[in-house]
Amino acid sequence: MSWALIDKARKTVAQEDGAIIKSWGGKITVAIAYPNVYYVGMSNLGFHTIYCRLNSFPEVLCERVFLPDKDEYQEYTNTKTALFTLESQKRLYEFDIIAFSISFENDYINILRMLDLAKIPLERGKRDDDHPLVIAGGVASTLNPEPISNFIDLFVIGEGEEILPEFIESYKNDVEEGHGKDEILERMASISGIYVPRCYGVSYNSDGTIKDFTPRGRFSRKVKRRWVKCIDKIETHSVVLTPNTEFGDMFLMEMTRGCKWACRFCTISFTYRPYRRRGIESLSNTANNGLNKSGRIGLIGADVSDHPGLSELCDLIVTNNGKVSVASLRADSLSDRVVKYLKGSGHKTITLAPEVGSERLRRVIDKRITERDILNAVDTVIGNDILNLKLYFMVGLPTETLEDVEAIVHITKTIKHHVLKVSKGNRRLGRITLSVNCFVPKPATPFQWHPLADIKILGDRLKIIRKALKREGNVNVTTDVPKWAYIQALLSRGDRRVGRIILSAHRFGGDWKRAFREVDVNTDFYVYRQRGADEIFPWDFIDHGIEKERLLAGYKKALA
Ligand code: SF4
Repeated sequence: MSWALIDKARKTVAQEDGAIIKSWGGKITVAIAYPNVYYVGMSNLGFHTIYCRLNSFPEVLCERVFLPDKDEYQEYTNTKTALFTLESQKRLYEFDIIAFSISFENDYINILRMLDLAKIPLERGKRDDDHPLVIAGGVASTLNPEPISNFIDLFVIGEGEEILPEFIESYKNDVEEGHGKDEILERMASISGIYVPRCYGVSYNSDGTIKDFTPRGRFSRKVKRRWVKCIDKIETHSVVLTPNTEFGDMFLMEMTRGCKWACRFCTISFTYRPYRRRGIESLSNTANNGLNKSGRIGLIGADVSDHPGLSELCDLIVTNNGKVSVASLRADSLSDRVVKYLKGSGHKTITLAPEVGSERLRRVIDKRITERDILNAVDTVIGNDILNLKLYFMVGLPTETLEDVEAIVHITKTIKHHVLKVSKGNRRLGRITLSVNCFVPKPATPFQWHPLADIKILGDRLKIIRKALKREGNVNVTTDVPKWAYIQALLSRGDRRVGRIILSAHRFGGDWKRAFREVDVNTDFYVYRQRGADEIFPWDFIDHGIEKERLLAGYKKALA
């Protein structure tokens, strides 16, 4: 083993506040793995929550592992060191279970990198009873686990906090009774919210679409997405504070889960249904605990600005000498009082998400805010002397025309001129930063039938925006890379056959183009094809909690 890597892991833990160190021996050992580097993984609240939840079982020991950064990766391979966890520096193959927490499809390849570094066979069929059980959960695999189903023994579908007690109980009993991995998996497959790929088979039509997805045996045809009914009973906040993340040592706490607005492109409202918000009493308790650990509290949730207790909570934090932060606010519910708290907390930028430039396209995606709402929000922000704005937009949405793309340029100029007017020529005028992303159709949303726009068209449209705003003072434009949108579209809506491409891309050191050439799977079939209304999707066996007919009605309404 590399002493340099061990030393680095020890130093990383020494800089942390809150790492959970348990003694080995007589426990179910779980390595919770984030398929990206420490800096990214430790910014993920879901990862913190599952780490804490697993360790809350006295019979479980859970330690963290991340994708090594470039230098560490080199050191691992040069010294032939097997990937190990941060807390005890035990190698992953010494654990009973490796649990991947997956938020983004583009991290799928990193799962294979980590298994390879851990010296564990990548394909589940090549692992035996001596290898750890490899499980996965998180939003990406809840939407559609199929592209990685050849590498993962078992998926947790939905909110892990809800399923873990049954999972641990079942695992413990089976091990005590001396069952092997096959039996453990078969028994687990009967637990609601658990998907074991080997217990299901897929058949295909001659045109490549799915003919049937059938359980092999007595298992249910549908796997139910589980969700936490009483969210106040389970705290979700930072567990380990470290300066080495995107948010520094800010204490993050979940305020809302899901979103009540259900914009047609957005996975948040469809994956985390129903919209839930925490009560002010439990939020106050969590904030008070957070203030004992950090002076900065980050409020997390897609729909934080609609929470009726937001002002009260901000007030509590600021009155107790803390600083408050939120990621993004809805333009139509941004209150002067909340913006004042943010200003007082040192916020220099407010993020808004108009998504598109034209009112027409905003109706297509069902984003129920207007240009007037956006300008009113700008008034509130500038009126409170916050001079920088970050605006999120997308290109490539269904029915989008060049006029819609030009409307992004137009609304940006309108916002800028509005800012100038409101700030009355304030010399300290800040920047407007546009983040323009490519729309990628996602499973379990009304746009799941829609193809990705051609990446050449996406590139041209991004170029139009960059060019038109190039000479616009105080405006910065950052844009997506369309080729990554293509890969994300492939991984989001792929089936089991896409796993071969991921494996190949890994073997070619992340060279996706070469993988596309070498594997006889037509990637355009998954990315550019308009799906038929009756088509069976790879993720249809998951009961996401919303009927397909309702999603289809939303899609038809959008196109109309
Ligand atoms: S308001 Fe934002 S988070 Fe909510 S559904 Fe729309 S895009 Fe998603």
